Amino acid sequence: ELDFARTTALVIGAGASGRAAAELLVFLGARVRLYDQNPDATVPAGVEPVLGAAELPAEAFAGLGLMILSPGVPPARFRDAQRRWAPQARVHGEMSLSLAIAAARFGRLPTVLITGTNGKSTVTALTGALLEAGGLKPFVGGNLGVPLAAALLGLLRARAPAPDALVLECSSFQLETLEHAATDVAMVLNITPDHLDRYPGLDDYAATKARVFTGLGPDGLALLDAGDGFTSFLRARVGAGRLVLVDDPDGARLLGPGPGDSLVLPDGETFARRALPIPGRHNSKNALFALLAARRLGVDHDACVRGLEGFHGLPHRMTFVRERAGVRFYDDSKATNVASVLASLDGFDRPVVLIAGGRAKGDDLTPLRALLGRSGRALVAIGESADAFYPLADGLVPARRANSMAEAVELAAALAGPGDAVVLSPACASYDWFKNYGERGDTFARLVRALPAEK
Ligand code: ADP
Repeated sequence: ELDFARTTALVIGAGASGRAAAELLVFLGARVRLYDQNPDATVPAGVEPVLGAAELPAEAFAGLGLMILSPGVPPARFRDAQRRWAPQARVHGEMSLSLAIAAARFGRLPTVLITGTNGKSTVTALTGALLEAGGLKPFVGGNLGVPLAAALLGLLRARAPAPDALVLECSSFQLETLEHAATDVAMVLNITPDHLDRYPGLDDYAATKARVFTGLGPDGLALLDAGDGFTSFLRARVGAGRLVLVDDPDGARLLGPGPGDSLVLPDGETFARRALPIPGRHNSKNALFALLAARRLGVDHDACVRGLEGFHGLPHRMTFVRERAGVRFYDDSKATNVASVLASLDGFDRPVVLIAGGRAKGDDLTPLRALLGRSGRALVAIGESADAFYPLADGLVPARRANSMAEAVELAAALAGPGDAVVLSPACASYDWFKNYGERGDTFARLVRALPAEK
């Protein structure tokens, strides 16, 4: 079935992963059509473009054997048409297709699948760093970085050897189309409200996340956070895998002498918390997830320690930018929902002038009031949702509205005193003012660096 020479494929969506899937299929000999609503979408060589139409023409389904959905494309919309016009076609996503091709070409590769609302990229990158410290050459990517299809195409073209392992960050979109793919470790880091614009309710969102366990065999390891509200919902869906809870007396633990000074695996193996340079209790838990995966894949203790020590985190996650007149500035632009802001600032040791707002995601904002009451110095509300954020400070701390990031940085710098921190931790998507969270964080950091040395 993985002989594509006589297959006609239709790829829906010409984003990075759709284009990668299309190119990979062309390389494997398939006839490929690529559909996107955008008439100017980029179409790789050898692919037949079907661009611009708001609805797919029936001809696009003629002779179809395979349909690939891209993240961000609501599957229902195109599945209805596929059932009508090409009921024989198999439906995949870029990641599930790539996993099947990888298995067919390279055999069974040690595989770690990582999902959750927050912390995916950190745990994916850290797991990769631990495996590399152990001398392995894993592919680390998926939703983060390079799509698996693009990496596979590169390897197949170069006739390069298989990676030693796959460490894949999976978005809920990618999990919607994930089919059984043999998995060694699968984890859901946490579930909090996010993307409720796409899922009718949190249960649907959680059920999609639980698909990460689909390919766990009896030797497979399932990991969940003991303290998450969805743990019991998810543990019923672990299937054949063996479950280990993170932050649980019977699972992987954070232990003293001081609070959370060591990271302890279920068999008692212990790592010093200070080995990991990135702060916060959420990152202690992230480390436990990554350590459990790396140990399961055979990385020894000392290599894990070296891997932790070398991991300085990903950009835009509480990244220190500058100290100026006793005020420290942090770029936490990647905190795009309320839960991630709470995680970032939980246990933070300075009063915070919080810059927050942007494209709202429908989260309940009230937990931010408790945060402001506890450790807020002031609030600067930005973006489309500034009017929703502004009243959060009522009766607690001073608040201002800013009409640009430049104004926000200026107001925040004026509100902060020596010993305080200014943190851009928006609890919102960035698409109102910026291309993405990276551009938002870079803009903030540039403006902060440009502030004059003296107040
Ligand atoms: P994702 O890839 O899932 O968006 P990231 O690793 O990029 O997650 O982290 C984004 C933000 O989420 C971090 O800046 C932090 O505020 C928060 N976060 C990270 N790990 C966790 C965790 N385990 N639990 C809760 N929040 C977390």
